[in-house]
Amino acid sequence: MSDYDFDFFVIGAGSGGVRAARIAAGHGARVGIAEDRDLGGTCVNVGCVPKKLLAYAAHFRHDLEDAGAYGWNVGTFTHDWARLIANKNEEISRLNGVYQRLLDGAGVELIRGRAVLTGPHSMQIGDREVTAERILIAVGGWPSMPDIPGADEFGISSNEAFYLDDMPERVVIVGGGYIAVEFAGIFHALGASVTLVHRGDRILRGFDQDLRLELEEELQRSGVDVLLNTLPAGLTADANGVRRLSLSDGRELPCDQVMFATGRRPKTAGLGLETAGVGVDPYGAVVVDDQYRTSVPNIYAIGDVTDRFNLTPVAIAEGHALADTVFGNRPRGISYENIPTAVFSMPPIGTVGLTEEEARLQFDVGIYRTRFRPMRHTLSGRQDKIMMKLIVDRASDRVLGCHMIGPDAPEIIQALGVAMSAGATKADFDSTIPVHPTAAEEFVTMRSPVTD
Ligand code: NDP
Repeated sequence: MSDYDFDFFVIGAGSGGVRAARIAAGHGARVGIAEDRDLGGTCVNVGCVPKKLLAYAAHFRHDLEDAGAYGWNVGTFTHDWARLIANKNEEISRLNGVYQRLLDGAGVELIRGRAVLTGPHSMQIGDREVTAERILIAVGGWPSMPDIPGADEFGISSNEAFYLDDMPERVVIVGGGYIAVEFAGIFHALGASVTLVHRGDRILRGFDQDLRLELEEELQRSGVDVLLNTLPAGLTADANGVRRLSLSDGRELPCDQVMFATGRRPKTAGLGLETAGVGVDPYGAVVVDDQYRTSVPNIYAIGDVTDRFNLTPVAIAEGHALADTVFGNRPRGISYENIPTAVFSMPPIGTVGLTEEEARLQFDVGIYRTRFRPMRHTLSGRQDKIMMKLIVDRASDRVLGCHMIGPDAPEIIQALGVAMSAGATKADFDSTIPVHPTAAEEFVTMRSPVTD
């Protein structure tokens, strides 16, 4: 037994921190965890979970619109935003309770409050001083607002979007990343008129070009106004609450809400990193080695605060691996290759492996692509298309990337992630019997590479 209060103390009870705490406690460590907000972190409270619930709500619109073609008499329908938010809040509270019970069950002591490092082994949490042999920083990230007049005062981030009292009639979303395109689809399907303002010439930087183009077209076709190569310049609000976002091209967009989805930053301000001697990069992200050790040997960091792969399952996997390594006598890391990911846009995207652009830099590739109307829309008449794409290394026949946009893409891509991790070749895909009739079967029936 060390002289410290805890063997392991975790700052931040988000997905990654809670997993690390529970696993370490399971290995016999005396573990504490500090949290100054709701348990579960970004994902549970203002991220993946509420976003997915809102996305479900949005998809009902298409279901209701298409139901008539399948014989249903639906009549007119309206949406009650306040009821959706109230039900969503109730579910989030339930999950906060689940997290509390998980910590209690594992014997982890939860201290409510913001922890500030006062040295390599010590923290101040409110009026309590806590010491620990090892410390984990798992404080996550926070929305970053652009440095333009009025953004902080009159704009909102995704944090506030989840708690709006009323559904805005006109929304402007600034940004072209995950959060921007997801909320564009949600607000639009729930009845708002939506303008997406993006500084680049194409949305979703880093994704495969075909996915980016396809989503942009689908957004435009559905009625979202996508303004590219446009920067926000300033935001004002009048006495009636009407916002005006001025743009780099001199135009002004009047609207009810402006949501900035302009990235997230590590939440390291005021954490005492300098006092403890923990090094950060120029953007404030905690720098770690391949075993999640910071510049202070007994202080570790995982998840979004390290700003590497800002995805919940990655933070969880990192927290688990760290706890096994340090307390379970089972040293291990995690693989950062072939991480499947989804964008819950409308339509959604599922993707794993290299984009065509990345693959072409390293391999001689064959591209297999298909674009078709989902069977469901043969009756509904909806014009949405599904696009699927495989990127194959011609030399080894290995599949390097799988990309899809269309209904169920996030569900389908998970299984393809397994195939990719197992090193599947195009021949493996070809010899797999299709499940008929599905959209997913197209992934194993694309015979010829495209020639363009
Ligand atoms: P992203 O980094 O994905 O996107 C930020 C967007 O804002 C980019 O389009 C960027 O443009 C633009 N931008 C940045 N700064 C400015 C500025 N000053 N003025 C105008 N535009 C700006 O961040 P998000 O906020 O969308 O999401 C944060 C992270 O959360 C993601 O990286 C992702 O890892 C995670 N996430 C994952 C989800 C999922 O798995 N489904 C869902 C939501 C979030 P440019 O492209 O030119 O840099």
